[in-house]
Amino acid sequence: MRSSTSSASLPVKTNRSFSPVRRYAWIFTILVGLGGQFVPSLGLLVPFIMAALVGTSLFKGKYWCGNICPHGSFFDNLLQPISRQVKIPEFLRSRPVVGAVLLFFIYNMASRFWSIYGTMGADPLYERLGFLFANTYLMVLLIGGLLAVVVNPRTWCVFCPMGTMQEMFYKFGRLLGINHKTDQRVSLVYPEKCRSCGKCSLVCPVQLEPHLNLSTTNQLEDERCIRCSTCTRNCPAGLLHMVAADENADQKAGCA
Ligand code: SF4
Ligand code: SF4
Repeated sequence: MRSSTSSASLPVKTNRSFSPVRRYAWIFTILVGLGGQFVPSLGLLVPFIMAALVGTSLFKGKYWCGNICPHGSFFDNLLQPISRQVKIPEFLRSRPVVGAVLLFFIYNMASRFWSIYGTMGADPLYERLGFLFANTYLMVLLIGGLLAVVVNPRTWCVFCPMGTMQEMFYKFGRLLGINHKTDQRVSLVYPEKCRSCGKCSLVCPVQLEPHLNLSTTNQLEDERCIRCSTCTRNCPAGLLHMVAADENADQKAGCA
């Protein structure tokens, strides 16, 4: 869209917890991921999380990742202060890597379900299923946590299979035409006032570059956006807002 000084710059740390859910949802991650190793039935909460994030994505894209996800809260609140906060390597968000992680996740879950089915009766079914989900939750906590410290807090999020599923369901929602009123995207009001400072891109947790990649209607249509509002909160000129596609024109008029 316009020239940038940000592409070569390093991302910066900034507050991303704009609600109590975003600040404290990490407690759920610890409870299920660690607590589930001792009380397996806690893992049975995970399918509800999966259903909720998929359902949300139909209408609001990856809103869950940026506003509700307990792992995201863990990465942003507990690990960002000790993160090296360097650039996320591009290959980690490449289609082959993202696709391979999703396929591995599906294969891993299917084979573990199959194993449980094959040994039915050994232990209570609900405990074994709970343990499976709690283990999966713990793996994300450990691998995502390590990446958060060594690379960047939201490194896991660029290839997370749950995030990939949300992108797929979001596209499906768009195809069905059911989310044009609910899908709030980053929108630049009065582009002529933009200073091209790149601050919005420098604070983006998943390292998108909103000021360089807006559509002709001045909205960020990138489905990888987690709708976290970090960029809109940090634009020094207050030009960025979260706006649904068909509200964009009204928003512009309202800010005149
Ligand atoms: S932070 Fe605001 S002023 Fe700076 S480049 Fe982004 S939209 Fe433009
Ligand atoms: S572009 Fe803005 S809303 Fe989207 S992920 Fe980046 S900081 Fe969050």
